[in-house]
Amino acid sequence: MTDRESWPRDWSVEQLHADHAQALRITAEFYDSATAHQRLRVFENPTFGRVMTLDGVVQVTEADNFIYHEMLTHVPILAHGAARRVLIVGGGDGGMAREVLKHQGVAQLTMVEIDGTVVDFCKSHLPSISAGAFDDPRLDLVIADGADFMRMNADLYDVIIIDSTDPVGPGEVLFTNSFYGHAKARLAPGGILVTQNGVPFMQGAELSNTMRAFRALFADATCYLATVPSYAGGAMAFGWGTDGRARDVDLATLQSRFAASAIMTDYYTPAVHLGAFALPPYVARLIG
Ligand code: SAM
Repeated sequence: MTDRESWPRDWSVEQLHADHAQALRITAEFYDSATAHQRLRVFENPTFGRVMTLDGVVQVTEADNFIYHEMLTHVPILAHGAARRVLIVGGGDGGMAREVLKHQGVAQLTMVEIDGTVVDFCKSHLPSISAGAFDDPRLDLVIADGADFMRMNADLYDVIIIDSTDPVGPGEVLFTNSFYGHAKARLAPGGILVTQNGVPFMQGAELSNTMRAFRALFADATCYLATVPSYAGGAMAFGWGTDGRARDVDLATLQSRFAASAIMTDYYTPAVHLGAFALPPYVARLIG
């Protein structure tokens, strides 16, 4: 068994889980240094293109980020149908902002990212991820802890997207009941809260904890799934909470909204949207 220390140097070994690791070969390294909050690393891998890790955990890759960003934006925004004000917590690489801003109906996007170095770095070393989003006049970028912002901010949003790291380090506060409670208070009537909630097969307790909090807060609390190859361990879960009826939207309505948006996608379709909420029993049991 090759332990982590003896793994060849030109590999990035992610050990997010106690007894599982994911290794990516490094063919070129662009950056490896600590910010005020976390260790930031960017390297090239033949399959995934440029890869960014924070504290050794894969955050975003050029090759498969479209799946994650399309599903955490177009699902809530098209289900809502009239989202004008959107909030992203985290999202430092700019990929979530890129997809939100494709919706011409979105008048204002606020993005609260704790680590300005991640934003600055991704703008220059991973520009394909944000694809100009940081220059969009509709974007208001706030460098702050998302938990503090949610507690103190008084604005209301139609869609809130939690695009955070995993519940370790600075991301931990974004998985607490109090944070979810403050987020709910920031939702406009019919508003939707969606969260990055890890890979249930590997991080089941994380999803169960979020869903327990969502069930206490929202009339409609569930999750939906998509498989992102660089988030190892199977399908990834996205938490969904709302007091509205956005999940009742039918295929024909989604199809007309999606067509009207004129957004080109590589993963999202209205049928994929609806199918993503069909949960296999092992996930349904986790969300109770
Ligand atoms: N796609 C990734 C995933 O699923 O794990 C998330 C990518 S994005 C880079 C995660 C961002 O969350 C990072 O830029 C990190 O700095 C930010 N973040 C972590 N904790 C935060 C907090 N408390 N407030 C705001 N942003 C935070």
